[in-house]
Amino acid sequence: MSFIQRTRKLALVDCNSFYVSCERLFNPRIRIKPVVVLSNNDGCIISRSNEAKALGIKMGEPYFKAKDIIVKNKVEVFSSNYSLYGDLSRRVMRTLKRFNSEIEVYSIDEAFLDLSNFPDSEVEKIGKEIRETVLQWTGIPTSIGIAKTKTLSKIANHIAKKKISGVTSLIGIENIDPILEKIDINDVWGVGKQLTKFYQKKWNL
Ligand SMILES: [Mg+2]
Repeated sequence: MSFIQRTRKLALVDCNSFYVSCERLFNPRIRIKPVVVLSNNDGCIISRSNEAKALGIKMGEPYFKAKDIIVKNKVEVFSSNYSLYGDLSRRVMRTLKRFNSEIEVYSIDEAFLDLSNFPDSEVEKIGKEIRETVLQWTGIPTSIGIAKTKTLSKIANHIAKKKISGVTSLIGIENIDPILEKIDINDVWGVGKQLTKFYQKKWNL
């Protein structure tokens, strides 16, 4: 009996600045402005547009600490609206299911998709198609990282976020060590030290 070993190809689709992107859908006025969304009771900053990131506003930062920058730069501030985000999340996930019905919803704005059925040479193109479709059908911009494992697709996704195409595939790259060496794990997960430790355990890094 012959045994064909196929490479696993996993895509991590992650919505860009998800809560901010949701607010922007209904507020065309704020599309090119710095925007932040606050946690319950307006305590902390939990979503930032790229413009807000560029101002140095940190993820998870208490609102009062960032208030000076916010006022000075006329940053648009929103309280969180979880029923809106939940609804848009379901729409994004439903769209993803058109490409593979067995998606793994990882968080409100992230899902893993198995693309193993596609040839290596096509996954990047499929990634771009997924991104275009989600944007067209839901209005939400995403980044897509494709690789052999979940951890690597998370890293590919981190690289994709910085690219205009929004898609990065590490499939077929023989030696990814030089790529990994340039990446700071704290950056990839965009979180503080404690959380990074937690993820390092969780992802077996
Ligand atoms: Mg996201």
